[in-house]
Amino acid sequence: MNCLKSRFKQTQMNIQLSLFPEEPGSSISECQNSNITRNSTSKLPPKKTKKVQPAKKRSKPYIWVTWISSLMGEEKQCKFTAWSHAHYKFPKQLSDFDSRTHDDMVRQRAAQHKSQGFAVYVEDNNSFNINGKTCDIGGRPDIVVIENGQPIIEDCKSGKRKTAHRMQVLIYMLLFPLSPIGKRLCQGHTPAGRLVYPDSIVEISPSEINARFKEFFRQTVAIISSSTPPPQVPSFWECRYCNVLGGYCPAKVDPEADTDNHDLF
Ligand code: SF4
Repeated sequence: MNCLKSRFKQTQMNIQLSLFPEEPGSSISECQNSNITRNSTSKLPPKKTKKVQPAKKRSKPYIWVTWISSLMGEEKQCKFTAWSHAHYKFPKQLSDFDSRTHDDMVRQRAAQHKSQGFAVYVEDNNSFNINGKTCDIGGRPDIVVIENGQPIIEDCKSGKRKTAHRMQVLIYMLLFPLSPIGKRLCQGHTPAGRLVYPDSIVEISPSEINARFKEFFRQTVAIISSSTPPPQVPSFWECRYCNVLGGYCPAKVDPEADTDNHDLF
């Protein structure tokens, strides 16, 4: 039984690995095109398949902060999503996310800080990219404000409170001071954090950047930057909003699948 299980696991892993091109240039869209050629002797016209743009292998794993904060905050369970994006560059997809409420919140907070006489830095001014031995990590805090000498990293959220938001700000507090702009603004201080919601503000103490948090962060980064992919954890809600294209994830749950083939109700 155990032998069967391990063979099944190995087969799954092989399927998973074979979906990603080992070398830049080979791609899943080429595989689909070759299927069309094989079927071309049939009298029926070949079935048209939607061309999937190839994913390009990154020369070094790259992690955007929010890919891991959602895992650390247990908002998401499927680590394969973050792993895929860390190791492969997918073509950009159109997003229907409306950022206007968030952008207004950032503008209002920045104006408020300025009116109080504090130095304030917004979004692109705060972008960072930290190089590590196993991967690079990038992020962009909404606001960095210097209040009476204390740097504070703020992130504005237009929705409800989530642990993932706290993890996101904690990662900024840990990494931002390592960047060139962070070194200049923080001057050796660990920044504090602040989450700004439409109806409340949550303060995060610099003391939360402790050994326990650093270990949790290291473990998560190690999983996502590893050359071995973590298992896929498919679920209706995560797969529905996951931007790893179907062709790259054999476990993807089809949200359009028929569910009316029963006589229960
Ligand atoms: S499609 Fe589903 S199983 Fe596949 S990576 Fe995304 S969330 Fe995970």
